Amino acid sequence: MFKIGCHLSASKGYMHMAKEILSIGGNTFQFFTRNPRGGTAKELDLDDINKFNEFSKDNGIEVILAHAPYTINVCSDKEETRRFGIDTMKDDLMRLDYINKSYYNFHPGSHVGQGVEVGINYIIDALNEILRDDQNTIVLLETMAGKGSEIGRSFEEIKQIIDGVKLNSKLGVCLDTCHVYDAGYDILQNLDSVLDEFDRVVGLERLKAIHINDTKNPFESHKDRHEKIGEGYLGNSAFEKIINNERLKDLPFYLETPNELDGYEKEIAYLKSIRK
Ligand code: FE
Ligand code: FE
Ligand code: ZN
Repeated sequence: MFKIGCHLSASKGYMHMAKEILSIGGNTFQFFTRNPRGGTAKELDLDDINKFNEFSKDNGIEVILAHAPYTINVCSDKEETRRFGIDTMKDDLMRLDYINKSYYNFHPGSHVGQGVEVGINYIIDALNEILRDDQNTIVLLETMAGKGSEIGRSFEEIKQIIDGVKLNSKLGVCLDTCHVYDAGYDILQNLDSVLDEFDRVVGLERLKAIHINDTKNPFESHKDRHEKIGEGYLGNSAFEKIINNERLKDLPFYLETPNELDGYEKEIAYLKSIRK
């Protein structure tokens, strides 16, 4: 089954998102666990969650992707910022325990001038504190564009984090097509060799989800600006190859393109039409 969806607003709860994604032709979705500015989360609505778990079983929603607020930074140079990120992620994971099947994606963070090694060590320390062996959710490190001092711009950095974490059976990777191209992995010309490299460095069994975005900037720009599918430097044919690739096609795909709901509906329809 082609698992395809987009980023949705979580403000009206899980059941609302489930119905919304079905109404635009998708069968999975991504959402922010809380206000992206990183404030407090809404009170857990177990009634909504129980209904959602039932509804998703009956309607072919196999998995959903929670996204941590992008403002948290567990490798900040400020102790209170690191602490806030860790506490937020712990709380998010506790909440996700109630969902049938979810992944939890986060941005590894920005080392803000402390250097990659210091940053990676903070991320490892954070994950060693956050992960529990009884958690229900796999935590995904997102591949980043390498804007500013972002960590996660190379497969090696991702691998180094995974290797440092004790409970790394709870870790996976979410590959963002805009970010990896921006970071210097040529998925336009050489998708298969990029996947070979990912397999060699990280292991393809770690790859759990794809963020499917075109990019406003040319190869290796390190800018991280998403574009609508087909309207950026990657273009339609790149996405046809990505969603049909033998090694990717069973993963869930999430659009994070600059769109409202109607735009997402068109992109989902288009991607379904070119899916083999
Ligand atoms: Fe992200
Ligand atoms: Fe992304
Ligand atoms: Zn991005």
